[in-house]
Amino acid sequence: MADAPESSIPKSPAGKPSASKSSVSKPSTSKPSASLKAAAPFWRGRSLEEFSPAEWESLCDGCGRCCLLKLEDEDTAEIHYTDIGCTLLDAASCRCRDYPRRQKKVPDCVRLTPEAVRTLSWLPPTCGYRLVRDGHDLPWWHPLVSGTRRTVHEAGISVRGRVSGTEEEFETEELLDRIVDWPGQDPQKDPQGGE
Ligand code: SF4
Ligand code: SF4
Repeated sequence: MADAPESSIPKSPAGKPSASKSSVSKPSTSKPSASLKAAAPFWRGRSLEEFSPAEWESLCDGCGRCCLLKLEDEDTAEIHYTDIGCTLLDAASCRCRDYPRRQKKVPDCVRLTPEAVRTLSWLPPTCGYRLVRDGHDLPWWHPLVSGTRRTVHEAGISVRGRVSGTEEEFETEELLDRIVDWPGQDPQKDPQGGE
């Protein structure tokens, strides 16, 4: 489900900002010494396999998009997002209600590993794993950059306010009418994509 077609993804703690700003009480007036140079954020310039478990989890921004039900076109294999949430998706917090036991409760919840991230075609363009996979930096609203999870909602990235219900609330014949485009768009790059 939601993760549906594989999706489970580290919906876990989107992580605390580890890339804290460094503060220097007495800034040097000349060339900064090597010790004063700010360390580069941990996600830059590394391959997916190089992250620690904690770093890996923190790349998830907690948007909840991957926990939306997805439908696959039998003829084209194209994946379509719906605005229907997985049975465990908390549409308000955009988090999994039972992350530790998600795969027991939702067998088709896909665990995001580096290998999965490299092969899945349906990760949203805003997904932290996809961005890092493709060599992009994390955007301003990502919790690791902003220091707060609020920005994921404020930037219109999360599913908050856009989930019509959980999969149990819809009949199979109703699913096609629930297909939406916005999970595959970035409202910060395409203002029309936030709707
Ligand atoms: S089980 Fe949890 S992590 Fe998996 S798709 Fe459902 S809500 Fe998301
Ligand atoms: S789409 Fe990516 S960033 Fe968003 S909740 Fe899923 S794994 Fe996390």
